[in-house]
Amino acid sequence: MVTHNPLLTVVVPCYNEEEVLPETIKQLSNCLKKLVTDQLIHEDSKILFVDDGSKDRTWSIIAMESIRNRFVTGIKLTCNVGHQNALLAGYLKAKEKCDCAISIDCDLQDDITVIRTFVEKYLQGYEIVYGVRDSRETDTWFKRTTAQSFYRIMKRMGIHLVYNHADFRLLGKRALEELAKYEETNLFLRGIIPLLGFKSMEVYYDRRERFAGTTKYPLKKMLSFAVNGITSFSMMPIRIITFLGFILFFVSILAGSYALIQKVLGFTSAGWTSLMISIWFIGGLQLVAIGMIGEYIGKIFMEVKNRPKFAIDIDLYTKPMLGEQGV
Ligand code: UDP
Ligand code: MG
Repeated sequence: MVTHNPLLTVVVPCYNEEEVLPETIKQLSNCLKKLVTDQLIHEDSKILFVDDGSKDRTWSIIAMESIRNRFVTGIKLTCNVGHQNALLAGYLKAKEKCDCAISIDCDLQDDITVIRTFVEKYLQGYEIVYGVRDSRETDTWFKRTTAQSFYRIMKRMGIHLVYNHADFRLLGKRALEELAKYEETNLFLRGIIPLLGFKSMEVYYDRRERFAGTTKYPLKKMLSFAVNGITSFSMMPIRIITFLGFILFFVSILAGSYALIQKVLGFTSAGWTSLMISIWFIGGLQLVAIGMIGEYIGKIFMEVKNRPKFAIDIDLYTKPMLGEQGV
């Protein structure tokens, strides 16, 4: 059900973002102010900053602003739980009050003016609106190529992802409620959201460079994000290994018969090279296979424990600090 004049909550996960935060607060509150003036959203709409265990002044900036600026509020997580979990913490918190939530990164890479389009689409009845990057020219060559291969591999494995969509999106309350039912520990939101199945729409925009600060997604985190994305949604890697196993089994029968015939016919061959090659090859393959199976078993291990994904230390969203608020 679309609510007119909806209460919007913009969810912004932040990890050590003191350099960019003041500008983000300025731009986002201006954006919300205009939307309120144009009566597109409810005047109690909020920007919910999720401090993901930052070690710099991020939280003090958020807390200070929440007193001065009526749009700004925040929750502080007890420790760093990573972007996806921080985002989920924000969504679940937002769900308590809002009619729809928009998630956006703190670094101003996503085009804030698109927020208006998101809201308009929501008002037209779309429960999910995806922000899709038109160009990735501002990303480094490396990031662009790895991201592209990632989408390609995911597609091959039958995982439906919206191409070039990061976590800049609008979710209506019903979508948020359905999302809350997914309890998996290894969270890959980009894969889960399309599974919710609601009426959705894509909105295109240009992705810019980070306004300030450095990326909080170094190569190591990017790789683990990709592996997590694949293994959370697809059994394909294990199947490929089983398939390879069958082929190898077949080949080894052929090779064995060949060796036997040679022996029977009395030919002796040096055999050392082929022996070494097969030992290395099969050994390597076995290690890959064990690693891959281990990856899934590890996943089961994590899921079975079913630990909470985050803990909230301070919650200004439902319990605001007292103070004069105006903007
Ligand atoms: N982030 C977070 N927790 C982390 C890492 C990142 O909340 O452990 C936030 C970060 O502050 C930013 C967003 O997630 O708002 C995306 O991170 P970043 O811009 O560094 O990633 P990139 O755009 O380089 O992929
Ligand atoms: Mg970024």
